[in-house]
Amino acid sequence: MWENLDFSKVVDYARDPYGSIRAWKEATGKKVVGSTLADVPEEVIYAFDVLPVTLLGTHKPLKKAPSLLPDNACSLARSNLELALSYEKDLFDGFVLPQVCDTTQHMCDIWRINFPDRYVESILLPRQVNRDSARYWVREETERLIQSLSDWTGKTIGVDDLKRSIAIHNENKRLLNELYEMKRRHPGVLTNKQLFALLKLSMQVDKKELNETLRKIKGALGGTEGEEKGGYTPVILTGITCDPLEIFDLFDEIKLNIVADTLVTGTRNLQGIVDGDKEPIEAITERHFRRGFFSPIHDDVFKNVETLKDLYSRYGAKAIVYVHIEFCESEEYDVPDLKVAMKKEGIPFHELVTEYQTLSLSHVRTRLNAFFESLQGASR
Ligand code: SF4
Repeated sequence: MWENLDFSKVVDYARDPYGSIRAWKEATGKKVVGSTLADVPEEVIYAFDVLPVTLLGTHKPLKKAPSLLPDNACSLARSNLELALSYEKDLFDGFVLPQVCDTTQHMCDIWRINFPDRYVESILLPRQVNRDSARYWVREETERLIQSLSDWTGKTIGVDDLKRSIAIHNENKRLLNELYEMKRRHPGVLTNKQLFALLKLSMQVDKKELNETLRKIKGALGGTEGEEKGGYTPVILTGITCDPLEIFDLFDEIKLNIVADTLVTGTRNLQGIVDGDKEPIEAITERHFRRGFFSPIHDDVFKNVETLKDLYSRYGAKAIVYVHIEFCESEEYDVPDLKVAMKKEGIPFHELVTEYQTLSLSHVRTRLNAFFESLQGASR
């Protein structure tokens, strides 16, 4: 299904992967489990021969979610619930849901009540990773998830199953990292949209199959010099997700090259490589401490600022673009402080506001063009 895709298919599937997941499910007879962002150990779900799918919203109208979540709940949370309730209700056999912010705190209960006939499991990972008890807790939660999946599927998995799954997931991240590096150095070889479509699709479909596509793309691009950096403006992208995919067309149109990002659906996912030589549960636990817990509620308020400053100077970027999901309360706390900090550092900073049910990007295009025109004008 996903092993031999050209870029037009990659973009089509990344925009709406659910038709292909449905066809895959019918062909394989396997189960599909959806998870919201972030940090659900998908290697564990995959080891049970179940497809883990990261839920990344729908652009279709909201019908049922508004009666379950208030209007000021974030656009992603409402959109994900709608996706599962209305548009793909028979696709998912179950859900594993993490808590990352106030909005998601009681979300698992809402899903449990609304999907009484499905498997619904929560996973609660610690935010304060420097406590002694945190490591114990992550391991316990991972083992609890394994037991829960085992009870549901009636299967038992061993070390070899986990290692096989980890190897597939690691290879996926390595291949994507290599493609990212190629594009960073030679922006002409891949568009922003193509790269971020691959990143998104990798979180939603069978990685074993998609890895074949990634290997073929890498082979086809290998040795391609592509256009050099000339004519492209290097930028850093930050936020949680960047949706719809057509936002990347706007970047491509004015020759912005995204050289680094901090998106949960971008580089943060690629940082999740697990040590394949270690005992698997220990290795999955260790990742949590190496990468840190995803939460837009920060323990260290300066970490965001320092990370962005570092990426900006390391990659010689000319600006930082922040993608703000409408009504993401946590981002709404961050943005004013980030703006002030970037201004103080003399780093050009632009905020885009997105909403899952709005596909019109004319306001985003106008503001993005104006920002980069003024930036070019200032540097002349
Ligand atoms: S972090 Fe923001 S976008 Fe993610 S679920 Fe919470 S409020 Fe929504």
